[in-house]
Amino acid sequence: MILLDGKKVAAEKRANLREEITAITAKGHRAPSLVIIIVGHNPASETYVANKIKACDEVGIKATKIAYEADITEDTLLETVRRLNEDSSVDGFIVQLPLPEHISEAKVLTAIDYRKDVDGLTPMSMGRSVQGLPAIPSATPAGIRSLLEYYHIPTAGKHVVVIGRSNIVGKPMAIMLMQRPYLSLPGMSAASLGDATVTICHSKTEDLSSICRTADIIIVAAGCPNLLRGEMVKPGATVIDVGINRVEDPSSPRGYKLVGDVDYEHVALVAGAISPVPGGVGPMTIVSLLQNTLQAALNR
Ligand code: NAD
Repeated sequence: MILLDGKKVAAEKRANLREEITAITAKGHRAPSLVIIIVGHNPASETYVANKIKACDEVGIKATKIAYEADITEDTLLETVRRLNEDSSVDGFIVQLPLPEHISEAKVLTAIDYRKDVDGLTPMSMGRSVQGLPAIPSATPAGIRSLLEYYHIPTAGKHVVVIGRSNIVGKPMAIMLMQRPYLSLPGMSAASLGDATVTICHSKTEDLSSICRTADIIIVAAGCPNLLRGEMVKPGATVIDVGINRVEDPSSPRGYKLVGDVDYEHVALVAGAISPVPGGVGPMTIVSLLQNTLQAALNR
């Protein structure tokens, strides 16, 4: 069984990015710059943002955080988005999700200029990706694609089951994997994977187990601990666990631990390759954000 070690792969990719960015700044260009907007004090979001800023520092991307209290108005947030769209010193920016309920995520994402959309989540970025036009890829699916590439796990002709249909993971992942590889288009990150036969499953899917058992690759992004069990996996299949769930753990000083959507202990006995949680998709997502920021800077 191969451990798809996102922590290790992400560290290598950050080292490469650091070299690339050092070479750019050595030529007299300014460092790529990323702005992260966070609204409120969701503890998980605060941790993600801190990790993203730390990763930027490591590779030489200038990261700036804009923090708003949870009661900020939608108009103020939209005004900030418009200002960042126009600010030529900013290559890319993201709005950390989720937003408080009184703010429309759809409205905010739609307002972001897709050329600065380094999370790859705006309707424009997603629509362009669907049509195979140059676009910044969604960060988590792009990280998963890099992980598969790194371990030489082919997708062409394979049956991939994606569990989850969110705009952040499930949908863009499915599109990315079923596309014809689009290496040749300018402004696109290199993508050699695609050509898969994709099935998307969700909370209303009937007989998830039977569908999963026909998969060569299963990508689980549902937010349900132990959703994927050993008997649902074909021997030798690749399993990518995207889920991040906090479960109570009295033995931990924090009182909780992070688990994915996969019953790791049992699935690891059947799978040919598996990504752990933590240390799998999470660090790869952050590396994609860094790569997307560099890409946005180069595109400009
Ligand atoms: P979401 O919460 O928006 O939606 C969950 C999806 O899973 C829905 O489409 C739903 O239909 C499906 N689903 C829920 N229960 C199911 C079940 N029992 N059977 C089949 N399908 C089911 O999804 P999201 O925002 O994509 O997040 C999914 C998980 O991935 C969460 O745990 C989230 O924290 C995690 N996540 C991790 C990263 C990362 O970088 N590692 C990035 C994004 C999200």
